[in-house]
Amino acid sequence: MLSFDQDHNWLRRLNGLSDKTAPKWAKEAPPAKDTMHTPQTLIPKISHSALKKYVTCPKSYQHQYVLMDVERTEGEASIYGKRGHEAIENRIKGGTPMPEEFAHLEPIVARIAAIPGTHYCERGVFLNSDLSVAPDGDSAWLRAYIDFISYNDANKTLTVFDWKFGSSKYIDFDQLKLYCLLGFKAFPEATKARAAYVFCKEKKISETLKMDRSEEDSEWSAWGEKVDKLETAYRFNRWPKQVSGLCNNYCDVKKAGKCDGRR
Ligand code: SF4
Repeated sequence: MLSFDQDHNWLRRLNGLSDKTAPKWAKEAPPAKDTMHTPQTLIPKISHSALKKYVTCPKSYQHQYVLMDVERTEGEASIYGKRGHEAIENRIKGGTPMPEEFAHLEPIVARIAAIPGTHYCERGVFLNSDLSVAPDGDSAWLRAYIDFISYNDANKTLTVFDWKFGSSKYIDFDQLKLYCLLGFKAFPEATKARAAYVFCKEKKISETLKMDRSEEDSEWSAWGEKVDKLETAYRFNRWPKQVSGLCNNYCDVKKAGKCDGRR
């Protein structure tokens, strides 16, 4: 882990962050030229789910990602989701018929399998902390496995889907935005991306998120501002509770007796 006096303000050193789209603090005091491509961060590794955990409750993030004294347990829903992911992947990649418990998804999966372009399931995209592409997942700072991504060379368009096995009630598009950005990293020729969630229990597809390559800077910048809050938490070792409805049934930290879930 880096010490506090090391320069950890990593985002402003990103390549191509234009003056128009950079957050205010990113325009302050430009870094020395020899540090331009070596951003450092106090956050050892990051993923969409880790960042979401921090936003939901910093204290639960602290126990699961900093102290690592509480394991992340897999509930029934997540085991069911894993089986579903596997069934869809086998159907798209190998044409294996959907097993009975997921047969209701066949019409949607068949439509997705017919999308023009080269298809990838569980496509890993790995980045270093300066957002350059990392050689492998082990050494990467940011790791993501995209459920489905296809690239159509004819119109230079990426199509992304993420399978969801929970409710569509608390939908947010942050994960899809990140996956479009990662798609642009993995497919440098792509100029456009579109992405949606498939809500498998409800047999429905969400609204489509569209992103143009020209929005890349501003979207990374918006994502980086969230990361910066996490960076600050590391810097000051500040992990407050965030009591919510999730405390009651879903918190591993509470189940482990490390938080009472009260204000
Ligand atoms: S019980 Fe609630 S406040 Fe406590 S760690 Fe879990 S989510 Fe956070």
